[in-house]
Amino acid sequence: MTEVSRETFDDVMVPNYSPLKIIPVRGSGAKLWDKDDNEYVDFAGGIAVNALGHCHPELTGALKEQADKLWHLSNVFTNVPALELGKKLVDNTFADKVFFSNSGGEANEAAFKLARKYASDNFGSDKNEIISFKQSFHGRTLFTVCVGGQPKYTQGFEPLPQGITHLEFNNIEMLEKAVSDKTCAIVLEPVQGEGGIISADKAFMKKVRELCDKFNAVMVLDEIQTGMGRTGQLFAYMDYGVEPDVLTSAKALGGGFPIGAMLAKDKFAVALNIGSHGSTYGGNALACAVASKAFDIINSETVLAGVNEKRALYETKLQMINEKYDIFDEVRGKGLLIGGALKEKYLGRARDFMVASLEQNLMILIAGPNVIRFAPSLLVTEAEIEQGMAAFEKAVAKVVAA
Ligand SMILES: *Cc1c(COP(=O)(O)O)cnc(C)c1O
Repeated sequence: MTEVSRETFDDVMVPNYSPLKIIPVRGSGAKLWDKDDNEYVDFAGGIAVNALGHCHPELTGALKEQADKLWHLSNVFTNVPALELGKKLVDNTFADKVFFSNSGGEANEAAFKLARKYASDNFGSDKNEIISFKQSFHGRTLFTVCVGGQPKYTQGFEPLPQGITHLEFNNIEMLEKAVSDKTCAIVLEPVQGEGGIISADKAFMKKVRELCDKFNAVMVLDEIQTGMGRTGQLFAYMDYGVEPDVLTSAKALGGGFPIGAMLAKDKFAVALNIGSHGSTYGGNALACAVASKAFDIINSETVLAGVNEKRALYETKLQMINEKYDIFDEVRGKGLLIGGALKEKYLGRARDFMVASLEQNLMILIAGPNVIRFAPSLLVTEAEIEQGMAAFEKAVAKVVAA
């Protein structure tokens, strides 16, 4: 076996990541272990991906079963797991059609291309402007970083795709002024994840719907982080009383197996006609078999209802910690997408809390420099929350004392 360590990363990997020093080798539920068998509580969930924890036996079973049957065909043929998953997504959402990809970024790439194509087919090529929002995140392909509202991710990659405007999130007045007959899409996350766990207001979401209808623009909801049970609904839009035209899913969709999906109403889906878009691996049989099983587990009364019960426990614990250490201005987000916005005194120091937590055998996330983020397994147990929060309190005590 090749000897590897954290140092190997710096030797052989492109330096675009700076991974923490522990290398987990094994996981079960909301726990991880490194090679020396040190145990960690996982509140990071692979960045909201491992919605059913690590190595859920039913997902492992679905993967193994499919692995012995058929792995891959390409889109020259269709396959049974893709058809089954597609049917489940259509039967349980606003959508009439599905396109499968391998990641969230690719699902968004498909959504944005669809919006341009729909507008071009129906209204001419002048209708090409995409309205998006500041501090949003939509992926790392060139088109999706440009639609995303974080300039640091596009710097140095110019020339950039054009026709994209970024407005203040939740600002209705500004949106009303900016939208026009040239707008082909309005794109938003129901809860901005990477941008700091900021929820869209209900009135704002309704206004996006209204303006999209008025100006024949495609309403695209990026539910890559908020979807598949994360907020306590199958998709977060279900809490808003508003249906999008197009929705993207990934992360929790595959429970750890790479897959993404773009869901669309028929009226818009037809724009991606034969040959206009594609992916070699999109709808891969292994990925769809795992995602199909994950869908069945997540889309159940008990799992979805459990999300908000578990959130309540997190909130209670965080409130107790905050009363003692006074670090958060606000605990926000929805369901098990939980953000702790740091007080002015700790601005820029979210990563310090993450590193201190790891020293207490707890994995957490950040959402930008000022927000601590928890995105645990939807099946995280009360005991795991207690254990993890005890570790978090110790980490907070250390950072505050330092
Ligand atoms: C993670 C994420 C993406 C990108 O997904 P990838 O699988 O990394 O390409 C896009 N949008 C949102 C809201 C995300 O959270």
